[in-house]
Amino acid sequence: MVADNRPSIPEPDSTGPEPKGAGGDPRELNDDVTEPPGKIWFRDLDEAVIEADRCIQCASCVAACPSDSIGIDEAEHRPTLVKMCTGCSRCWDFCPRSGLRYERHLELAVEERALEEPATYAARADGDAAAAGQDGGAVTALLAELIESGDLDGAVVARESDSGPLRGEPFLATSREDLLEAGGSIYNQTMGLGRIDDLLAEEGLDPAETDLALVGTPCVIQGATALDRYDHEPADPIALTVALMCTRSFEHGRLVSRLERFDVDPERVDKLDITAGVLYAFDESGDVLLEADVDEFDAAGLRGCSECADFVGAGADISAGNVGTEDGETTVVVRTETGRNAWESAADGLETTAIDRPDTLERLADWNRRRAESTLPRAYDPEGSVGISYEAHREAYDGTDREPQPLNPARVHQYEEWC
Ligand SMILES: Cc1cc2nc3c(=O)[nH]c(=O)nc-3n(C[C@H](O)[C@H](O)[C@H](O)COP(=O)(O)OP(=O)(O)OC[C@H]3O[C@@H](n4cnc5c(N)ncnc54)[C@H](O)[C@@H]3O)c2cc1C
Ligand code: SF4
Ligand code: SF4
Repeated sequence: MVADNRPSIPEPDSTGPEPKGAGGDPRELNDDVTEPPGKIWFRDLDEAVIEADRCIQCASCVAACPSDSIGIDEAEHRPTLVKMCTGCSRCWDFCPRSGLRYERHLELAVEERALEEPATYAARADGDAAAAGQDGGAVTALLAELIESGDLDGAVVARESDSGPLRGEPFLATSREDLLEAGGSIYNQTMGLGRIDDLLAEEGLDPAETDLALVGTPCVIQGATALDRYDHEPADPIALTVALMCTRSFEHGRLVSRLERFDVDPERVDKLDITAGVLYAFDESGDVLLEADVDEFDAAGLRGCSECADFVGAGADISAGNVGTEDGETTVVVRTETGRNAWESAADGLETTAIDRPDTLERLADWNRRRAESTLPRAYDPEGSVGISYEAHREAYDGTDREPQPLNPARVHQYEEWC
Protein backbone atom coordinates (compact mmCIF):
# COMPACT_ATOMS: atom_id res chain seq x y z
CA MET A 1 0.00 0.00 0.00
CA VAL A 2 1.02 3.64 -0.34
CA ALA A 3 2.80 4.53 2.89
CA ASP A 4 0.50 6.85 4.79
CA ASN A 5 2.50 9.04 7.12
CA ARG A 6 -0.26 11.49 7.79
CA PRO A 7 -0.04 12.95 11.24
CA SER A 8 -2.97 12.03 13.40
CA ILE A 9 -5.57 14.77 13.66
CA PRO A 10 -4.56 17.10 16.50
CA GLU A 11 -6.69 17.92 19.48
CA PRO A 12 -9.24 20.64 18.75
CA ASP A 13 -8.15 24.18 19.31
CA SER A 14 -9.99 27.41 19.52
CA THR A 15 -9.79 28.03 15.78
CA GLY A 16 -11.06 24.75 14.43
CA PRO A 17 -13.88 22.30 14.89
CA GLU A 18 -13.41 19.05 16.66
CA PRO A 19 -12.79 16.27 14.17
CA LYS A 20 -15.35 13.56 14.71
CA GLY A 21 -14.45 10.00 15.46
CA ALA A 22 -16.55 7.15 14.17
CA GLY A 23 -20.05 7.64 15.47
CA GLY A 24 -19.39 11.33 16.20
CA ASP A 25 -22.15 13.85 15.83
CA PRO A 26 -21.90 15.37 12.34
CA ARG A 27 -23.51 18.55 13.64
CA GLU A 28 -20.27 19.29 15.54
CA LEU A 29 -19.18 20.74 12.21
CA ASN A 30 -21.56 23.59 12.89
CA ASP A 31 -19.55 25.15 15.63
CA ASP A 32 -20.97 28.60 14.96
CA VAL A 33 -24.32 27.74 16.49
CA THR A 34 -24.78 27.42 20.22
CA GLU A 35 -27.97 25.35 20.26
CA PRO A 36 -28.15 22.10 18.31
CA PRO A 37 -30.24 23.10 15.29
CA GLY A 38 -33.06 21.03 13.88
CA LYS A 39 -32.62 18.33 11.34
CA ILE A 40 -31.53 19.27 7.86
CA TRP A 41 -33.12 17.04 5.26
CA PHE A 42 -31.94 16.22 1.77
CA ARG A 43 -34.83 18.33 0.49
CA ASP A 44 -33.19 21.38 2.11
CA LEU A 45 -29.96 20.62 0.25
CA ASP A 46 -31.92 20.07 -2.94
CA GLU A 47 -33.59 23.48 -2.68
CA ALA A 48 -30.47 25.37 -1.58
CA VAL A 49 -27.97 23.80 -3.95
CA ILE A 50 -29.38 21.59 -6.68
CA GLU A 51 -32.56 23.47 -7.62
CA ALA A 52 -30.65 26.73 -7.18
CA ASP A 53 -28.29 25.49 -9.95
CA ARG A 54 -25.26 25.65 -7.69
CA CYS A 55 -24.43 21.93 -7.56
CA ILE A 56 -20.92 21.08 -8.74
CA GLN A 57 -21.70 17.36 -8.94
CA CYS A 58 -18.92 16.40 -6.55
CA ALA A 59 -21.07 13.61 -5.02
CA SER A 60 -19.89 14.32 -1.48
CA CYS A 61 -23.54 14.17 -0.36
CA VAL A 62 -23.95 10.71 -1.90
CA ALA A 63 -20.79 9.45 -0.20
CA ALA A 64 -21.72 11.04 3.15
CA CYS A 65 -25.23 9.59 3.43
CA PRO A 66 -25.09 6.77 6.01
CA SER A 67 -28.36 5.19 4.88
CA ASP A 68 -27.57 5.22 1.14
CA SER A 69 -30.67 7.34 0.66
CA ILE A 70 -29.02 9.52 -1.99
CA GLY A 71 -28.38 8.09 -5.41
CA ILE A 72 -27.42 9.57 -8.75
CA ASP A 73 -30.05 10.44 -11.32
CA GLU A 74 -28.16 9.36 -14.44
CA ALA A 75 -30.54 11.14 -16.84
CA GLU A 76 -30.32 14.50 -15.10
CA HIS A 77 -26.83 13.89 -13.73
CA ARG A 78 -27.59 15.07 -10.21
CA PRO A 79 -27.95 13.61 -6.76
CA THR A 80 -31.44 12.40 -5.98
CA LEU A 81 -33.32 10.80 -3.12
CA VAL A 82 -33.77 7.06 -3.65
CA LYS A 83 -35.21 6.09 -0.30
CA MET A 84 -36.18 7.41 3.13
CA CYS A 85 -34.21 10.44 4.33
CA THR A 86 -33.60 10.34 8.09
CA GLY A 87 -32.71 14.03 8.37
CA CYS A 88 -29.25 13.17 9.73
CA SER A 89 -27.91 16.36 8.03
CA ARG A 90 -24.70 14.78 6.78
CA CYS A 91 -25.39 15.62 3.13
CA TRP A 92 -25.59 19.26 4.18
CA ASP A 93 -22.53 19.09 6.39
CA PHE A 94 -20.25 17.66 3.71
CA CYS A 95 -21.51 19.69 0.74
CA PRO A 96 -18.94 22.33 -0.32
CA ARG A 97 -21.79 24.48 -1.63
CA SER A 98 -23.74 24.51 1.62
CA GLY A 99 -22.64 23.20 5.04
CA LEU A 100 -18.92 22.69 4.42
CA ARG A 101 -16.92 25.90 4.48
CA TYR A 102 -14.45 24.39 2.05
CA GLU A 103 -11.81 27.11 2.44
CA ARG A 104 -11.59 26.46 6.19
CA HIS A 105 -11.47 22.73 5.65
CA LEU A 106 -8.59 23.24 3.19
CA GLU A 107 -6.75 25.51 5.59
CA LEU A 108 -6.93 22.81 8.28
CA ALA A 109 -6.05 20.04 5.85
CA VAL A 110 -2.96 21.96 4.73
CA GLU A 111 -1.94 22.72 8.33
CA GLU A 112 -2.23 19.08 9.27
CA ARG A 113 -0.95 17.27 6.21
CA ALA A 114 0.95 19.47 3.78
CA LEU A 115 4.70 19.27 3.39
CA GLU A 116 6.47 22.37 4.57
CA GLU A 117 7.60 22.94 1.01
CA PRO A 118 5.41 21.22 -1.56
CA ALA A 119 7.52 20.14 -4.55
CA THR A 120 6.52 21.34 -8.02
CA TYR A 121 7.61 19.62 -11.23
CA ALA A 122 7.16 19.64 -14.96
CA ALA A 123 6.67 15.92 -15.65
CA ARG A 124 6.61 13.86 -18.82
CA ALA A 125 5.69 10.18 -18.91
CA ASP A 126 7.48 7.58 -21.03
CA GLY A 127 5.93 5.64 -23.90
CA ASP A 128 2.25 4.66 -23.86
CA ALA A 129 1.27 6.85 -20.92
CA ALA A 130 2.57 9.95 -22.70
CA ALA A 131 0.39 9.16 -25.72
CA ALA A 132 -2.68 8.37 -23.62
CA GLY A 133 -2.46 11.36 -21.29
CA GLN A 134 -4.01 14.78 -21.65
CA ASP A 135 -0.77 16.71 -21.11
CA GLY A 136 2.41 14.88 -20.05
CA GLY A 137 0.56 11.68 -19.11
CA ALA A 138 2.08 11.99 -15.63
CA VAL A 139 -1.11 11.00 -13.80
CA THR A 140 -1.56 7.90 -15.95
CA ALA A 141 2.10 6.91 -15.48
CA LEU A 142 2.04 7.54 -11.73
CA LEU A 143 -1.05 5.42 -11.16
CA ALA A 144 0.11 2.65 -13.50
CA GLU A 145 3.44 2.36 -11.67
CA LEU A 146 1.71 2.25 -8.27
CA ILE A 147 -0.71 -0.46 -9.38
CA GLU A 148 2.03 -2.53 -11.00
CA SER A 149 4.22 -2.31 -7.90
CA GLY A 150 1.28 -3.39 -5.69
CA ASP A 151 1.22 -0.10 -3.77
CA LEU A 152 -2.33 0.45 -5.00
CA ASP A 153 -5.06 -2.01 -5.94
CA GLY A 154 -6.76 0.43 -8.28
CA ALA A 155 -7.68 4.00 -9.09
CA VAL A 156 -11.06 5.66 -9.51
CA VAL A 157 -10.65 7.64 -12.71
CA ALA A 158 -12.94 8.63 -15.61
CA ARG A 159 -13.58 7.38 -19.11
CA GLU A 160 -15.95 8.28 -21.89
CA SER A 161 -19.25 6.50 -21.43
CA ASP A 162 -21.22 4.74 -24.17
CA SER A 163 -24.20 6.97 -23.38
CA GLY A 164 -22.99 9.93 -25.41
CA PRO A 165 -19.93 11.64 -26.89
CA LEU A 166 -17.66 13.40 -24.39
CA ARG A 167 -19.76 12.21 -21.47
CA GLY A 168 -17.66 10.88 -18.62
CA GLU A 169 -18.38 8.04 -16.25
CA PRO A 170 -16.42 6.84 -13.23
CA PHE A 171 -14.18 3.88 -13.87
CA LEU A 172 -12.20 1.67 -11.49
CA ALA A 173 -8.88 1.05 -13.21
CA THR A 174 -6.95 -1.92 -11.87
CA SER A 175 -4.22 -2.27 -14.51
CA ARG A 176 -1.96 -0.21 -16.76
CA GLU A 177 -4.19 -1.12 -19.73
CA ASP A 178 -7.22 0.27 -17.91
CA LEU A 179 -5.36 3.49 -17.19
CA LEU A 180 -4.23 3.86 -20.79
CA GLU A 181 -7.87 3.48 -21.84
CA ALA A 182 -8.91 6.18 -19.35
CA GLY A 183 -6.14 8.69 -20.09
CA GLY A 184 -7.13 12.27 -20.94
CA SER A 185 -9.43 14.87 -19.41
CA ILE A 186 -13.20 14.56 -19.21
CA TYR A 187 -14.72 18.02 -18.97
CA ASN A 188 -17.75 17.02 -16.95
CA GLN A 189 -18.15 15.61 -13.50
CA THR A 190 -18.49 11.84 -13.12
CA MET A 191 -19.60 11.68 -9.45
CA GLY A 192 -17.03 8.94 -8.86
CA LEU A 193 -16.83 9.71 -5.14
CA GLY A 194 -20.44 8.59 -4.78
CA ARG A 195 -19.89 5.40 -6.75
CA ILE A 196 -16.85 3.92 -5.03
CA ASP A 197 -18.75 1.21 -3.13
CA ASP A 198 -20.57 0.12 -6.30
CA LEU A 199 -17.37 0.08 -8.34
CA LEU A 200 -15.63 -2.05 -5.73
CA ALA A 201 -18.59 -4.40 -5.46
CA GLU A 202 -18.64 -4.85 -9.26
CA GLU A 203 -15.00 -5.99 -9.04
CA GLY A 204 -15.64 -8.14 -5.96
CA LEU A 205 -13.26 -6.01 -3.86
CA ASP A 206 -13.63 -5.49 -0.12
CA PRO A 207 -13.31 -1.77 0.80
CA ALA A 208 -11.55 -2.69 4.05
CA GLU A 209 -8.82 -4.50 2.16
CA THR A 210 -8.42 -2.26 -0.86
CA ASP A 211 -6.14 0.74 -1.40
CA LEU A 212 -7.36 3.09 -4.06
CA ALA A 213 -6.33 6.37 -5.60
CA LEU A 214 -9.15 8.83 -6.16
CA VAL A 215 -8.67 11.21 -9.09
CA GLY A 216 -11.01 14.16 -9.44
CA THR A 217 -11.47 17.89 -9.64
CA PRO A 218 -10.51 19.80 -6.47
CA CYS A 219 -14.09 19.92 -5.17
CA VAL A 220 -14.29 16.12 -5.27
CA ILE A 221 -11.09 15.95 -3.25
CA GLN A 222 -12.55 18.48 -0.78
CA GLY A 223 -15.45 16.12 -0.10
CA ALA A 224 -13.25 13.03 0.11
CA THR A 225 -10.76 14.65 2.49
CA ALA A 226 -13.51 16.15 4.67
CA LEU A 227 -15.06 12.70 5.00
CA ASP A 228 -11.63 11.33 5.86
CA ARG A 229 -11.01 14.05 8.45
CA TYR A 230 -14.34 13.95 10.23
CA ASP A 231 -15.49 10.42 9.64
CA HIS A 232 -12.58 8.06 10.12
CA GLU A 233 -14.54 5.40 8.27
CA PRO A 234 -12.69 2.24 9.18
CA ALA A 235 -13.25 0.85 5.69
CA ASP A 236 -12.25 3.98 3.77
CA PRO A 237 -10.38 2.59 0.76
CA ILE A 238 -8.93 5.92 -0.43
CA ALA A 239 -5.17 5.79 0.09
CA LEU A 240 -4.10 8.56 -2.32
CA THR A 241 -5.88 11.62 -3.71
CA VAL A 242 -4.96 13.29 -7.02
CA ALA A 243 -6.59 16.61 -7.89
CA LEU A 244 -6.84 17.81 -11.48
CA MET A 245 -6.34 21.58 -11.36
CA CYS A 246 -9.54 23.27 -12.41
CA THR A 247 -11.20 26.61 -12.93
CA ARG A 248 -14.49 25.15 -14.18
CA SER A 249 -16.22 22.00 -15.27
CA PHE A 250 -19.16 21.74 -17.65
CA GLU A 251 -22.70 20.45 -17.73
CA HIS A 252 -22.47 17.75 -20.37
CA GLY A 253 -25.65 18.56 -22.32
CA ARG A 254 -24.85 22.27 -22.49
CA LEU A 255 -21.26 21.59 -23.55
CA VAL A 256 -22.37 19.39 -26.41
CA SER A 257 -25.00 21.94 -27.53
CA ARG A 258 -22.44 24.69 -27.44
CA LEU A 259 -20.05 22.70 -29.65
CA GLU A 260 -22.91 22.15 -32.09
CA ARG A 261 -23.53 25.91 -32.17
CA PHE A 262 -19.95 26.17 -33.45
CA ASP A 263 -20.79 23.55 -36.12
CA VAL A 264 -18.67 20.93 -34.40
CA ASP A 265 -20.12 17.43 -34.40
CA PRO A 266 -19.42 16.12 -30.87
CA GLU A 267 -19.17 12.57 -32.26
CA ARG A 268 -16.09 13.66 -34.21
CA VAL A 269 -14.34 15.16 -31.17
CA ASP A 270 -11.65 12.84 -29.89
CA LYS A 271 -10.12 15.26 -27.40
CA LEU A 272 -10.99 18.57 -25.79
CA ASP A 273 -8.35 20.74 -24.22
CA ILE A 274 -8.39 24.08 -22.45
CA THR A 275 -5.07 25.89 -22.37
CA ALA A 276 -4.38 29.55 -21.63
CA GLY A 277 -8.03 30.54 -21.97
CA VAL A 278 -8.57 28.76 -25.31
CA LEU A 279 -10.77 25.71 -25.82
CA TYR A 280 -9.57 23.32 -28.54
CA ALA A 281 -11.45 20.39 -30.02
CA PHE A 282 -9.38 17.80 -31.90
CA ASP A 283 -10.46 14.88 -34.06
CA GLU A 284 -8.93 11.41 -34.00
CA SER A 285 -6.06 12.42 -36.29
CA GLY A 286 -5.19 15.37 -34.09
CA ASP A 287 -6.63 17.95 -36.48
CA VAL A 288 -8.15 21.00 -34.85
CA LEU A 289 -11.94 21.11 -35.22
CA LEU A 290 -12.38 24.20 -33.08
CA GLU A 291 -10.26 26.86 -31.42
CA ALA A 292 -12.40 29.28 -29.40
CA ASP A 293 -12.14 31.60 -26.45
CA VAL A 294 -13.20 29.50 -23.45
CA ASP A 295 -15.42 32.39 -22.31
CA GLU A 296 -17.65 31.52 -25.27
CA PHE A 297 -18.45 28.35 -23.32
CA ASP A 298 -19.32 30.16 -20.08
CA ALA A 299 -23.00 29.28 -20.32
CA ALA A 300 -22.09 25.59 -20.51
CA GLY A 301 -20.06 25.73 -17.28
CA LEU A 302 -21.36 24.61 -13.90
CA ARG A 303 -22.63 27.77 -12.25
CA GLY A 304 -21.40 26.62 -8.84
CA CYS A 305 -17.81 26.66 -10.13
CA SER A 306 -17.64 30.42 -9.80
CA GLU A 307 -17.93 29.97 -6.01
CA CYS A 308 -14.77 27.85 -6.04
CA ALA A 309 -11.40 29.20 -4.94
CA ASP A 310 -9.53 25.90 -4.99
CA PHE A 311 -7.89 25.86 -8.43
CA VAL A 312 -4.96 23.73 -7.31
CA GLY A 313 -6.74 21.19 -5.13
CA ALA A 314 -4.99 22.20 -1.94
CA GLY A 315 -6.37 19.24 0.02
CA ALA A 316 -4.96 16.57 -2.33
CA ASP A 317 -1.82 14.50 -1.94
CA ILE A 318 -0.82 15.42 -5.50
CA SER A 319 -2.18 18.07 -7.90
CA ALA A 320 -1.80 17.93 -11.68
CA GLY A 321 -2.48 20.50 -14.39
CA ASN A 322 -0.94 22.09 -17.44
CA VAL A 323 -0.52 25.70 -16.40
CA GLY A 324 3.06 26.92 -16.27
CA THR A 325 4.60 24.06 -18.29
CA GLU A 326 5.23 23.36 -21.97
CA ASP A 327 2.94 21.37 -24.24
CA GLY A 328 3.40 17.68 -23.56
CA GLU A 329 4.23 18.22 -19.89
CA THR A 330 2.16 17.97 -16.73
CA THR A 331 2.53 20.48 -13.92
CA VAL A 332 2.69 18.35 -10.77
CA VAL A 333 2.60 19.58 -7.18
CA VAL A 334 3.43 17.00 -4.53
CA ARG A 335 1.74 18.26 -1.38
CA THR A 336 1.85 15.65 1.36
CA GLU A 337 4.08 12.90 2.60
CA THR A 338 1.66 10.33 1.20
CA GLY A 339 2.00 12.10 -2.15
CA ARG A 340 5.79 12.20 -1.89
CA ASN A 341 6.01 8.48 -1.14
CA ALA A 342 3.76 7.73 -4.11
CA TRP A 343 5.71 10.05 -6.41
CA GLU A 344 9.05 8.55 -5.41
CA SER A 345 7.76 5.00 -5.93
CA ALA A 346 6.67 5.91 -9.45
CA ALA A 347 9.76 7.89 -10.43
CA ASP A 348 10.97 5.29 -12.95
CA GLY A 349 8.13 6.03 -15.36
CA LEU A 350 8.57 9.80 -15.29
CA GLU A 351 11.00 12.40 -16.50
CA THR A 352 10.89 15.54 -14.36
CA THR A 353 12.37 19.02 -14.50
CA ALA A 354 11.66 22.31 -12.76
CA ILE A 355 8.41 24.02 -13.76
CA ASP A 356 9.01 26.78 -16.35
CA ARG A 357 6.59 29.44 -15.13
CA PRO A 358 5.63 29.03 -11.45
CA ASP A 359 4.29 32.59 -11.43
CA THR A 360 1.59 31.60 -13.99
CA LEU A 361 0.34 28.91 -11.63
CA GLU A 362 0.21 31.39 -8.77
CA ARG A 363 -1.54 34.02 -10.88
CA LEU A 364 -4.25 31.62 -12.01
CA ALA A 365 -4.82 30.40 -8.45
CA ASP A 366 -5.06 34.00 -7.34
CA TRP A 367 -7.54 34.89 -10.10
CA ASN A 368 -9.64 31.87 -9.14
CA ARG A 369 -9.77 32.94 -5.48
CA ARG A 370 -10.75 36.50 -6.39
CA ARG A 371 -13.54 35.19 -8.64
CA ALA A 372 -14.90 33.14 -5.72
CA GLU A 373 -14.66 36.04 -3.32
CA SER A 374 -16.67 38.23 -5.65
CA THR A 375 -19.31 35.55 -6.39
CA LEU A 376 -19.92 33.93 -3.01
CA PRO A 377 -22.90 35.55 -1.27
CA ARG A 378 -21.36 34.47 2.05
CA ALA A 379 -17.98 35.65 3.31
CA TYR A 380 -14.95 33.76 1.99
CA ASP A 381 -13.37 33.03 5.35
CA PRO A 382 -10.47 30.57 5.74
CA GLU A 383 -10.47 31.36 9.48
CA GLY A 384 -14.21 30.77 10.04
CA SER A 385 -15.88 27.66 11.40
CA VAL A 386 -15.68 24.67 9.09
CA GLY A 387 -19.42 24.10 9.33
CA ILE A 388 -22.06 26.51 8.05
CA SER A 389 -25.46 26.15 9.65
CA TYR A 390 -28.62 26.07 7.56
CA GLU A 391 -29.69 29.35 9.15
CA ALA A 392 -26.39 31.08 8.35
CA HIS A 393 -26.59 29.86 4.76
CA ARG A 394 -30.13 31.22 4.34
CA GLU A 395 -29.11 34.53 5.85
CA ALA A 396 -26.31 34.95 3.32
CA TYR A 397 -28.02 33.55 0.21
CA ASP A 398 -31.67 34.60 0.55
CA GLY A 399 -32.47 37.55 -1.67
CA THR A 400 -29.49 36.92 -3.98
CA ASP A 401 -29.51 35.26 -7.42
CA ARG A 402 -28.23 32.11 -5.67
CA GLU A 403 -31.04 31.77 -3.16
CA PRO A 404 -32.79 28.43 -2.54
CA GLN A 405 -35.41 27.53 -5.13
CA PRO A 406 -38.62 25.55 -4.69
CA LEU A 407 -38.44 21.83 -5.33
CA ASN A 408 -39.02 20.59 -8.83
CA PRO A 409 -42.73 19.60 -8.87
CA ALA A 410 -41.78 16.31 -10.53
CA ARG A 411 -39.86 15.37 -7.40
CA VAL A 412 -42.25 16.54 -4.72
CA HIS A 413 -43.84 13.09 -4.43
CA GLN A 414 -40.45 11.67 -3.38
CA TYR A 415 -40.29 14.08 -0.49
CA GLU A 416 -43.87 13.48 0.53
CA GLU A 417 -43.07 9.81 0.70
CA TRP A 418 -39.53 9.85 2.08
CA CYS A 419 -38.98 13.00 4.14
C1 LIG B 1 -12.83 19.66 -15.71
C2 LIG B 1 -11.34 19.86 -15.79
C3 LIG B 1 -10.83 21.17 -15.88
C4 LIG B 1 -9.45 21.37 -15.92
N1 LIG B 1 -8.98 22.65 -15.99
C5 LIG B 1 -7.65 22.88 -15.95
C6 LIG B 1 -7.15 24.22 -15.95
O1 LIG B 1 -7.91 25.19 -16.03
N2 LIG B 1 -5.80 24.39 -15.87
C7 LIG B 1 -4.92 23.34 -15.76
O2 LIG B 1 -3.73 23.56 -15.65
N3 LIG B 1 -5.37 22.06 -15.77
C8 LIG B 1 -6.71 21.80 -15.87
N4 LIG B 1 -7.18 20.52 -15.86
C9 LIG B 1 -6.22 19.40 -15.71
C10 LIG B 1 -5.65 18.90 -17.05
O3 LIG B 1 -6.67 18.85 -18.03
C11 LIG B 1 -5.03 17.48 -16.90
O4 LIG B 1 -5.96 16.61 -16.28
C12 LIG B 1 -3.77 17.48 -16.04
O5 LIG B 1 -2.84 18.37 -16.59
C13 LIG B 1 -3.15 16.09 -15.94
O6 LIG B 1 -2.63 15.74 -17.20
P1 LIG B 1 -1.97 14.31 -17.42
O7 LIG B 1 -1.62 14.16 -18.87
O8 LIG B 1 -0.89 14.08 -16.43
O9 LIG B 1 -3.19 13.37 -17.04
P2 LIG B 1 -3.61 11.97 -17.68
O10 LIG B 1 -2.41 11.11 -17.79
O11 LIG B 1 -4.46 12.22 -18.86
O12 LIG B 1 -4.49 11.37 -16.48
C14 LIG B 1 -5.65 12.02 -16.05
C15 LIG B 1 -6.46 11.04 -15.23
O13 LIG B 1 -7.58 11.73 -14.72
C16 LIG B 1 -8.78 11.06 -15.03
N5 LIG B 1 -9.79 12.07 -15.28
C17 LIG B 1 -9.92 12.89 -16.32
N6 LIG B 1 -10.98 13.70 -16.20
C18 LIG B 1 -11.54 13.37 -15.03
C19 LIG B 1 -12.69 13.85 -14.34
N7 LIG B 1 -13.47 14.79 -14.84
N8 LIG B 1 -12.99 13.30 -13.14
C20 LIG B 1 -12.21 12.30 -12.64
N9 LIG B 1 -11.10 11.83 -13.25
C21 LIG B 1 -10.79 12.35 -14.42
C22 LIG B 1 -8.47 10.26 -16.28
O14 LIG B 1 -9.31 9.13 -16.38
C23 LIG B 1 -7.00 9.89 -16.07
O15 LIG B 1 -6.87 8.71 -15.34
C24 LIG B 1 -8.55 20.27 -15.87
C25 LIG B 1 -9.07 18.96 -15.79
C26 LIG B 1 -10.45 18.76 -15.75
C27 LIG B 1 -10.99 17.34 -15.67
S1 SF4 C 1 -22.39 20.21 -4.62
FE1 SF4 C 1 -21.75 18.09 -4.22
S2 SF4 C 1 -22.42 17.67 -2.11
FE2 SF4 C 1 -23.50 19.53 -2.80
S3 SF4 C 1 -25.45 18.78 -3.61
FE3 SF4 C 1 -24.04 18.88 -5.34
S4 SF4 C 1 -23.14 16.82 -5.46
FE4 SF4 C 1 -24.09 17.00 -3.44
S1 SF4 D 1 -14.02 24.88 -10.58
FE1 SF4 D 1 -14.05 24.12 -8.50
S2 SF4 D 1 -16.17 23.56 -8.17
FE2 SF4 D 1 -15.90 23.66 -10.38
S3 SF4 D 1 -15.42 21.57 -11.00
FE3 SF4 D 1 -13.52 22.70 -10.71
S4 SF4 D 1 -12.96 22.21 -8.59
FE4 SF4 D 1 -15.11 21.73 -8.81
